[in-house]
Amino acid sequence: MAHDEPSKSVPQTKLVIRNIGLLLSGDLANPILDADTVVAVGDRITAVGKEKDVDTSGATVTIDARGTALAPGLIDSHVHPVCGDWTPRQNQLGWIDSYLHGGVTTMVSAGEVHTPGRPKDIVGLKAMAIFAQRAFHAFRPGGVKIYAGAPVIEHGMVEDDFKELAAAGVKILGEVGLGSVKDGKTAHQMVSWARKYGIQSTIHTGGPSIPGSSLIDKDMVLETDADVIGHVNGGHTALPDDQIMALCERSTRALEIVHNGNERAGLLALRTAMELKQLDRVILGTDSPAGSGVQPLGILRMISLLSSLGGIPAEVAICLATGNTAKMRKLDCGLIAPGREASFVLMDKAQHSAGKNLLDSIQKGDLPGIGMVIIDGAVSAQRSRNTPPATAVPEVVT
Ligand SMILES: [Zn+2]
Repeated sequence: MAHDEPSKSVPQTKLVIRNIGLLLSGDLANPILDADTVVAVGDRITAVGKEKDVDTSGATVTIDARGTALAPGLIDSHVHPVCGDWTPRQNQLGWIDSYLHGGVTTMVSAGEVHTPGRPKDIVGLKAMAIFAQRAFHAFRPGGVKIYAGAPVIEHGMVEDDFKELAAAGVKILGEVGLGSVKDGKTAHQMVSWARKYGIQSTIHTGGPSIPGSSLIDKDMVLETDADVIGHVNGGHTALPDDQIMALCERSTRALEIVHNGNERAGLLALRTAMELKQLDRVILGTDSPAGSGVQPLGILRMISLLSSLGGIPAEVAICLATGNTAKMRKLDCGLIAPGREASFVLMDKAQHSAGKNLLDSIQKGDLPGIGMVIIDGAVSAQRSRNTPPATAVPEVVT
């Protein structure tokens, strides 16, 4: 379909990235690959392996990773874009481009809810969703892909509305609970209609985020049964611990932990998912822009938080922000494997980190330094202007 994903230009370039010191796959089942070279033709990965075993001939661009780590581009599962690279929430320009410098190559909208004068009538909310889907499909600040056009459900919507939205290219609902529908029965009906037409749903969880939003407790989350339990750790106000644990135990849906949530509750959700051996359900977002601002390094901060305080290996924490989210959000990025999108972040331990290498530095709570970000096989950013400086940075050699 023409509107499946944000637009991309696909020149038939051949990209070779060699001398990779650590290859992080994004795949929870096998997070570290025994390989040092990645090849991409156009916007797709074509080979991953040892340099001597892969065909590197005819490269149009060669990058010497200089022993740094390569991971899939990070995915932010929960953003609230509005229009272009501007957010009225903090009246800030260029926030998406700033996230690129935090390693984010893909964003998923949880509703364009900060739009000034956001329409709440049904034809208006549908028009806004279709507009946002089209606009972000065509506009990619710094190359970042933004999956947007996420309508917030309101009372009065009927099955035909979801059918019409799907036919127009809308693939996701904004957070259930941010509109007038605040009862599980109605929400469940609408989420089911959305699912029938291939539209994925996310529900707000916890106390109100800002004046005007409201409490969504575990009973409403369970009854609604949206595809993603949005900010299971609250945004910011979390549900009581027993309710968070009940959501982990009694639902099979994705458990989204966000930066702009309750950090203690985020660690509880992580621990509960681990005890259930369901870490594959955990995905990460920032829930930004928000009242607490924009966080260009938000996903990196989540990785560091969950690894250092949640006690999971750094390479596993990175999977939560890449392969896990891609699987739950049905995206073809997030994994280093042939056929997947050629979007990467190259990192090294930050200068003067006490960690002995990148993974150890993250496990000690430091942020990595980003040396390069690649989207669809093309270099989008070199040394990050936002992270602490990486010890070694990759180099474009041809
Ligand atoms: Zn929310």
